Amino acid sequence: HLGNSTIKEELGRSTWKLFHTMLARYPEEPKPDERSALGQFIHLLSRLYPCGECAEHFQLLLQEYPPQTSSRAAASQWGCAIHNLVNERLRKPVFDCNSIEVQYPCGCAEP
Ligand code: FAD
Repeated sequence: HLGNSTIKEELGRSTWKLFHTMLARYPEEPKPDERSALGQFIHLLSRLYPCGECAEHFQLLLQEYPPQTSSRAAASQWGCAIHNLVNERLRKPVFDCNSIEVQYPCGCAEP
């Protein structure tokens, strides 16, 4: 049946916000356990994301471009690139990934 694109877009914006902010705070030198946690989180997100067609498409993207978990820089750049692939498909502008980490502050008290 009919979807509601306003709600779908709001869900997308909220999810991308969490996604990029999480990657911008991911450890610079992650331990094996942290690498595994990020990989699992992304794959579970792609299974459980509430928009079915979005989830299906995201799963295909992940097969081609698996999450990069080796460092904060690698993870953040990967996240920006995969969002850009979704942007391309939806004919949205490509985002400049150069300063991705500083564009997603978390408001956390840490330095
Ligand atoms: P969004 O794409 O939501 O981006 C929000 C803001 O993030 C932008 O305004 C910009 O400031 C910034 N941004 C843009 N690109 C990047 C980037 N590459 N890196 C970092 N920041 C960036 N919608 C569908 O209709 N079909 C789908 O198949 C679909 N699949 C999706 C899959 C996932 C995993 C997610 C999270 C969302 C998906 N969506 C899908 C929703 C879609 O991606 C958008 O979130 C929604 O259309 C709203 O778009 P927007 O123009 O507000 O910007």
